[in-house]
Amino acid sequence: MSQPTLEQFQAEALAFLEANAPRKEAEKKFVWGEGSDKVAMFEEKERSKEQIDVDLACDWRRKKFDAGFGYITGPESHGGRALPGAYQRAYDSLESKFDIPNQSCFTIGLGMVAPTILAHGSDIARDLYLRKMYRGDIVGCQLFSEPGAGSDLAGLSTKAERDGDEWVITGQKVWTSGAHYSHIGEIIARTDPGLPKHKGLTGFIVDMHAPGVEIRPLRQMTGGASFNEVFFTEVRVRDDHRLGDVNNGWNVALTTLMNERAAIGGGGGGGGFFTRVIEMVKHYGLDKDPVVRDELAKIIIHNKVAAYNNQRALDKIKSGQMPGPEMSMAKLAGTNNMIRLGQFVSMVLGPKLVADSGEWGTYAWNQLILGTPGGRIAGGSDEVMRNIVGERVLGLPKDPGIDSKSPFNELKK
Ligand SMILES: Cc1cc2nc3c(=O)[nH]c(=O)nc-3n(C[C@H](O)[C@H](O)[C@H](O)COP(=O)(O)OP(=O)(O)OC[C@H]3O[C@@H](n4cnc5c(N)ncnc54)[C@H](O)[C@@H]3O)c2cc1C
Repeated sequence: MSQPTLEQFQAEALAFLEANAPRKEAEKKFVWGEGSDKVAMFEEKERSKEQIDVDLACDWRRKKFDAGFGYITGPESHGGRALPGAYQRAYDSLESKFDIPNQSCFTIGLGMVAPTILAHGSDIARDLYLRKMYRGDIVGCQLFSEPGAGSDLAGLSTKAERDGDEWVITGQKVWTSGAHYSHIGEIIARTDPGLPKHKGLTGFIVDMHAPGVEIRPLRQMTGGASFNEVFFTEVRVRDDHRLGDVNNGWNVALTTLMNERAAIGGGGGGGGFFTRVIEMVKHYGLDKDPVVRDELAKIIIHNKVAAYNNQRALDKIKSGQMPGPEMSMAKLAGTNNMIRLGQFVSMVLGPKLVADSGEWGTYAWNQLILGTPGGRIAGGSDEVMRNIVGERVLGLPKDPGIDSKSPFNELKK
C-alpha cells in the first residue's frame, strides 16, 4: 500500500474522529469554587467501576484500530501501517481535541510490554498478541518487582523451570499496576540460579487467568488500590511464550525499562495545576505576600527548566534515536516538581488540608499530595535516577552497588 502524505493522513484521521467522538468543549476558564475540585495522581475507583472504564477504553481502541489508527508505526504483518513516528504524533495531537474514553489502562501494555514482544517475542507470540493488544482485545501488565527485588531487579527470585515444551513458574510479584484487569503479563523469572544474577534470568508472557495465578489488591495511602501482589504457583507457560533467549532476560527487561522511562518522562511536573494554585493564592489573599510569591515563582521556573530539558529527549525520539539519561533527568525533575507543588499547597492551606471542613478546593488536595510520593518510586526511585545522572551525565565514579566489595558494603555486613 502506498504511503499517504502527512496531510492526507491528517485529513483521514480528522474524518474518523469527527464521525466517532465529540469534540472537547473549549477549555472553560477556571473559576475558584466552581465545578469539581478533584486533584489526583491515581484514579481512585472501585474495581467494578474501573472495569467499566477499561471496557470503554477497549471499545474505543477497537474502533480506532479497525479504522487504521491503532498501530500507526507498527509492522503491516501485525496490523500496523508502518508509517513514521511523525504520523503517530499527528494523530495523537488531533485525538487530544476529542472527548474519548480515558486510555490509561494501556500505558503499560502498549507503552512497555508490546514493544518488548515486538523486539524479543517468538513469531508465534507476536502473531498471537500484537494485533490483539493494539486493538484493545488484550490488556498487558508488567510483572517485575518482588518483595525482595525492586531497584535491584536482577536479584529477583521467582523461578521458572523447564518441563519439556513448557516452563513452570513459581514465586511472588508485587506492586503490579493493573494486574486485576490485565489478560497477559510480561514476567522476568530466574531460570538458572547457578549463574551470576544478571545472567540467569528469562522473560516470558504469562496468561493472567492461568491456573495457579492469584491476584490480591494492595491499597495505597490515598485509599484506592491501583496495584496488586501476584502469586504464581506452578503456572505453566509454553516455550513459544518465552521472550528472547534462555538466560537473556536482563536484556529483555532493559528493553521494557527504556520504554517505561520514555513513557513516564514528559511534562515538567505539576504544570497542569498552576492556574488552580494561582487562583487559590488569590482566593486566600496571599498574592502580595513576598514569601508566597517567591515560592510560587521558584516552582514555575523549575517546571519550565524541566520542560525544556524534556524537549531534548523528545527531539531525540523524533529523530529516531532512543533517549538515554535525559529520561532519568526528566523523571527525577518531574516527580520532584510535583512534590514541590504539594509542599507549596500544604503551606497555603495549612490545617484545611488535613481536616475535611467541606470547603471547596482544600481537603481535595489530599489525593494528589498523598499520591505524589508514589511517583518518586515507580519506574526507578529518585536515588536510582540520581545514580544514573551522576554516572552517565556528570561522569562520576560508578555506584558500588549492593553486591560490590566496596568498603562501605563490607561495613554494612
Ligand atoms: C505507583 C507505582 C506503580 C508501580 N507499578 C509497578 C508495576 O506495574 N510492575 C512492577 O513490576 N513494579 C511496579 N512498581 C514497583 C517499582 O518498580 C518499585 O517499587 C521500584 O523499582 C523500587 O523498588 P522497591 O519498592 O523494592 O524499593 P527498594 O529497591 O527496596 O528501595 C528502597 C529504598 O532504597 C533506595 N535504593 C535502592 N537501591 C539504591 C542504590 N543503588 N543507591 C541509592 N539508593 C538506593 C531506593 O531509592 C529506596 O529509597 C510500582 C511502584 C509504584 C510506586
